[in-house]
Amino acid sequence: MKDQLKALEQIKAAEATLLLPTYERNPLLFVGGDGVYLTDEYGDKYLDLLSGIGVNALGYAHPAIERAIAEQSKRLIHTSNLFFHPGQAELALRLTEMSGLDRAFFCNSGTEAWEAAMKVARAYAGLLRAKNKETGGKQIGTKFLAIENSFHGRTFGSVSTTHKAKYREPFAPTLPGVEFVRFNDIEDLRAKFSSDFCAILLEPIQGEGGIRPLSAEFLQAARDLTHSTEALLITDEIQSGLGRTGKWFAYQHYGIQPDITTIAKPLAGGLPLGAMLCTEAVSQAIHPGMHGTTFGGGPLACAVAIAVIDEMKSTNLLEQVAKVGNYFKQRLTSLQAKHPSIVDVRGKGLMLAAQVDSPELAKTVLAQLLERKIIINRTDETVLRFLPPFILQPEHIDTAIQAIDEILTAIEAAAGQHSQQAVAQGGR
Ligand code: PLP
Repeated sequence: MKDQLKALEQIKAAEATLLLPTYERNPLLFVGGDGVYLTDEYGDKYLDLLSGIGVNALGYAHPAIERAIAEQSKRLIHTSNLFFHPGQAELALRLTEMSGLDRAFFCNSGTEAWEAAMKVARAYAGLLRAKNKETGGKQIGTKFLAIENSFHGRTFGSVSTTHKAKYREPFAPTLPGVEFVRFNDIEDLRAKFSSDFCAILLEPIQGEGGIRPLSAEFLQAARDLTHSTEALLITDEIQSGLGRTGKWFAYQHYGIQPDITTIAKPLAGGLPLGAMLCTEAVSQAIHPGMHGTTFGGGPLACAVAIAVIDEMKSTNLLEQVAKVGNYFKQRLTSLQAKHPSIVDVRGKGLMLAAQVDSPELAKTVLAQLLERKIIINRTDETVLRFLPPFILQPEHIDTAIQAIDEILTAIEAAAGQHSQQAVAQGGR
């Protein structure tokens, strides 16, 4: 059976009957990786500009990650959160320093970090209500105000604060008490916000929603409104955090400080690990037993996360992300000037997008890039998304830009021929 499952076709057939059909996988079987390249079963190398959807920040087979896994796995992999190990506090020390927040809770994924943020916000609102009852202060509600086009994950709290109907409706009824504000619409934000809300929830740069940055004015307005009622500002940095935009956290580009933020994807170099970071004040709402996880923040994941962060710091990787990201964006912008089918180029650092004028074109570009052994993905129908490893070099960008240029040029030439033929036929 084991041998039979080796070939891609056999794996596909087996999965088709054995797995829940949650994914539309690309017909590729990767067996290894090195740096920014993945290797398939035939030994062919693929330039990876997606890094496992923003996870493999240090690329593949990075010695710092391999070393941390080897050393820690020999010592201890799991003990549960009933006992101490040195990793959580060591990692929290780094994350609190990087974020300007005070405390951390560790879990296993992005969506769990978001669930923790929502639960802590509700608990904090309860604490405020108890305090304000005593002092006669204004009461705060339990509702969440999220942003249209948001994506926060697939568990019930997360999916309830995720905007697109396709993610929520099949599972209705989702969590009550969630409202959505139009993207970057300050008027709508001011009109909808009230003391009924315990938190405003936002991605400073929306990821799945199409790499869309919130404006500085919108973020500031959200911060000011929450301050006016003691509600919390919660940022989801699961995709944008930990250096992807050239700063540790995307909110640091805006000069605002949230009360809670969430991270996951690149945190432990590909091992599952998420974290919710919050202020000291907010942390006062949580007592032992109120929240927890069996696996979250285990010794192995923490050791690898510490190694990832230390490697990023010692190699000044943030600077590199900012520099290479600027070059990438500049090359995409030049491509936009040449190809009118690219309608927008957006993003920061190595969280970038080129939006094209139709879903069909986006699909074609993606498929043809894959034929040329370059991996990106498509989000929000028309958006070509680039989330490469942070170790990306300008020559990799040149390869990708040349490929996209050639693909679009050929598509335009074919379309031009087509319309010439139509004119010629019409003229007959
Ligand atoms: N929040 C954001 C902004 C994300 O991009 C994602 C995943 O893509 C999530 C939450 C959910 O993370 P996970 O898939 O690890 O649960």
